[in-house]
Amino acid sequence: MLREQLETLAVLQGIDLEVKEHKDAQTERRQEMETRERDIARLAAEVKTLKETWEERDRVRRDKEQVIHDANRKATDKRMRMSHVKNLKELQALQREIGVIKESNAILEEELIEVMTDLEEHEGILKQKEEELTGLQDDWNQRKGPLVQEIADLEHKIDQTRDLRASTASRLNDDLVGRYELLFNRRGGTAVVVVSSAICQACYMNIPPQLWNDVLRNERVNLCPSCQRILFYNPPVPEQGGQP
Ligand SMILES: [Zn+2]
Repeated sequence: MLREQLETLAVLQGIDLEVKEHKDAQTERRQEMETRERDIARLAAEVKTLKETWEERDRVRRDKEQVIHDANRKATDKRMRMSHVKNLKELQALQREIGVIKESNAILEEELIEVMTDLEEHEGILKQKEEELTGLQDDWNQRKGPLVQEIADLEHKIDQTRDLRASTASRLNDDLVGRYELLFNRRGGTAVVVVSSAICQACYMNIPPQLWNDVLRNERVNLCPSCQRILFYNPPVPEQGGQP
């Protein structure tokens, strides 16, 4: 009987909707995993670049410090030689040389201050980003285990419905199952609409009177003219016992 077939089809849809819900929940969790891991990777890359830039600037700082240090030593040497000079010409030459060193050191020192200011700024940003990264990683370390478990639990629930789904589908006509599955996938999980009045409960369009009569008879597969879903009229179960 078609009525029974449609009724079973509605049961099958109930199972499929449950599976779909579990699968959607799994997808959501997998996306959360991807998003978190991608965010961490992106921030880790940013921290790495910042560190490299900082190291490069720090090398520049050390080089400049070394040059200044060497120049100062040279100036000190020259100053010491000044007490052993034999004539004024030699003294003036040493004074000039010391003057040149002082001038170039003054420029280098200014550059050094700039580099150090830059370094400090970089250090602040780097520290902030490193803390942010640690926070993300800590959060993720706590969330990862439960998330993996949730996905496994959902998989288990999906597995549990497999036998019931197979036995339910085996009671159905293959053509009907085929049409149903096509609709289920195309129509976002509602292929069979259980109707109790002449309104499609999926798209809320009125069912024309002639079609509604056909639906009430449950003698053939009737589709909603608007959304093409299978319409199934499930007559109300008469109350047992009733009023005295
Ligand atoms: Zn409809």
